[in-house]
Amino acid sequence: MESKESPICNSTLIEEDTMTLSRRTFVATSAMATMFGLSARLVVSVAEAAQVTADPAAAFVRYKVGDAEVTAIYDGVWERPYKANLVANASVDDVQAALTKANLPDTFLTLPFTVSVIKQGDDVILCDAGTGGQVVPTAGKFMDGFKAAGFDPAKVSKILISHCHPDHIFGLMAKDTNAPVFANAEIMISDVEYKWWTDPTTLDKVPDDRKPLVKRIQAVFPTWKNITQVAGEKEVANGLSFVAAPGHTPGHRAFLLASGKDQHMFSNDTMYMPALNVAHPDWMGSYDQDAPTAVASRQKMMARLVADRIALSGYHFPFPGHGALAKEGPDYVLTIAKI
Ligand SMILES: [Zn+2]
Repeated sequence: MESKESPICNSTLIEEDTMTLSRRTFVATSAMATMFGLSARLVVSVAEAAQVTADPAAAFVRYKVGDAEVTAIYDGVWERPYKANLVANASVDDVQAALTKANLPDTFLTLPFTVSVIKQGDDVILCDAGTGGQVVPTAGKFMDGFKAAGFDPAKVSKILISHCHPDHIFGLMAKDTNAPVFANAEIMISDVEYKWWTDPTTLDKVPDDRKPLVKRIQAVFPTWKNITQVAGEKEVANGLSFVAAPGHTPGHRAFLLASGKDQHMFSNDTMYMPALNVAHPDWMGSYDQDAPTAVASRQKMMARLVADRIALSGYHFPFPGHGALAKEGPDYVLTIAKI
């Protein structure tokens, strides 16, 4: 899922949230402003920092894929106000009905962040890097959970990057210095994705609110010597391959792990919100840079997962984020593992 393009910029955040204020927040804002005699604009940021969704009971959950051990580590949640024209081919009423059907609040989007860590022998492989505590105040718990699960950032061998939105890559970089957080890891990213974000002409192609992200990537990534560009659907570790799933971004990738008799697809943002994208794979979300291509990638992957009985996980699925996809009549049904 696309996210804020820079470490939280309060003025921008307040401006956007004032315009897209949810009913929930508005109620809290009015009441709190009266109580504390604060200006509404100030309280909006306080209200947005308050979290409605409960954090999971466990900071991390382990499961097996063949001989590999996967640890799902919770980073936090973004309760995100609606973006204008969230789904191009569905009404706001339809979107809210889909959220209600999934037992989610219908006044904002509930977007958890979960980083998957694959352990095979001595290899410790991250699938994306978390928010680094630099996207929303309600996320940034990954590193604590990572260490609680017994991992050491200095011993991460590879980090596979699905795409360059902030909620997936800011965890690579220290907040103020951009210093590498995982200094000894090889960072692997699709060549298409890397080239698009580091192309000097990209800065002129993106909207203003995305320019800080492009500038940060262009200031940092070319100076790092530990980034490997991955072509096509190459196998990058034992049984672990990139899978093309463009549309969300130009070089968005999923990762397929095959071990023993098991196959598991880290779908990343191919389906970024099950209540919307799994229930309605044809919905064209405004978070997808090229929505028709994203829909085609999504439909292709979902059909494959069902046909080949491949388990899956999603970066923004309800924690712990892994489960199975099935088809019931014309509908896809996602079952997420319980903690
Ligand atoms: Zn995302």
